[in-house]
Amino acid sequence: MECIFCKIVSKEVNSTIVHETDHIVVIKDINPQAPTHLLIIPRSHCPTLLDCDDRGLLGEMLEVAKEVAKKVGVDRSGFRVVVNTNDEGGQTVYHLHMHLLAGRPLSGRMG
Ligand code: AMP
Ligand code: ZN
Repeated sequence: MECIFCKIVSKEVNSTIVHETDHIVVIKDINPQAPTHLLIIPRSHCPTLLDCDDRGLLGEMLEVAKEVAKKVGVDRSGFRVVVNTNDEGGQTVYHLHMHLLAGRPLSGRMG
């Protein structure tokens, strides 16, 4: 198994886990682009958003984003969710995940 996020969800590789459900693990990004930078990662391996047709799971990822935003206290100030997809979309890890960014005013662009 080569995939770093598969290793993270199976706990073969250490990470800072902030939330877990039956289908999803939320960790702190190792290279944060904002004061709060979390990754919402399905336990099941799917390379990109384009490969995932599980509406239940996609919906759950957004539900978890809301829940975690409240849990870490950024819901009122605001946050952003992003799914980078394929090369020019900025995807570097090919295991579907959603970024949750918050903690400073985010401009119209990422980063
Ligand atoms: P993306 O560029 O959208 O594919 O996002 C991949 C993200 O995973 C990047 O923000 C990386 O900083 C993050 N990342 C890569 N390896 C790890 C790791 N071992 N633990 C936590 N975050 C990671
Ligand atoms: Zn994987």
